Amino acid sequence: MRGKTFIISGPSGVGKSTVLKELLQRRDMYFSVSATTRTPRAGEVDGVHYHFVDVDTFRSMIEEEALLEHAEYVGNYYGTPKRYVDEAMEQGRDVILDIEVQGAVQVCAKRPETVRIFIAPPSWEELERRLTARGTDTQEKIQKRLQRAKIEMETAADYDYFVINDDVAHAVAELDAIMCAEHCRPAERMSQIV
Ligand code: ADP
Ligand code: 5GP
Repeated sequence: MRGKTFIISGPSGVGKSTVLKELLQRRDMYFSVSATTRTPRAGEVDGVHYHFVDVDTFRSMIEEEALLEHAEYVGNYYGTPKRYVDEAMEQGRDVILDIEVQGAVQVCAKRPETVRIFIAPPSWEELERRLTARGTDTQEKIQKRLQRAKIEMETAADYDYFVINDDVAHAVAELDAIMCAEHCRPAERMSQIV
């Protein structure tokens, strides 16, 4: 049985990384490590949080068709290396893609069976507070990310599920429940009866 792919999208600072870190302690899933041209934040490790590459390397990856999708986001490029995603799925493992909305559209066009989950903040004020409290971006970058968040929120209705990250434990429980339910669909379950 091949694994399933789940896309997690949502505004920068909503808590995607925080929630996914917890979720990965509960579920055995492959977290897809993206390539990006963004500079690493304090504490980010190359190969763990991202593959940090320069623009020329990123362009070569596009030309070699090594990326499942790619997008520009607030001045940097981000993309999903295809090979590891496919290997994990072949091994029967579920895959998590933490990607923004343009990338989600590209993946779903190629692979319509992908499950899309949007994570939203409880309020705009709280989103701005979290982005500021994280302390990784300048005020100018925070404002650009908030502008982008407004556009991203308008696409949320296209997703299969909508989770509000008011409380980390609550959001993790909802994601876990969604993934569990997706494995209870008849197409998968009926094939398991011997
Ligand atoms: P993203 O990956 O979506 O950009 P992060 O996981 O980096 O967001 O979270 C942004 C900030 O918000 C971090 O400082 C994190 O500790 C904090 N945070 C995440 N979830 C919550 C929550 N439910 N309540 C309060 N703060 C949170
Ligand atoms: P950050 O710079 O905060 O780590 O990420 C910025 C945005 O890029 C987030 O919305 C995140 O989900 C998205 N992102 C991370 N990796 C990828 C990727 O491989 N492809 C796309 N399209 N977006 C990504």
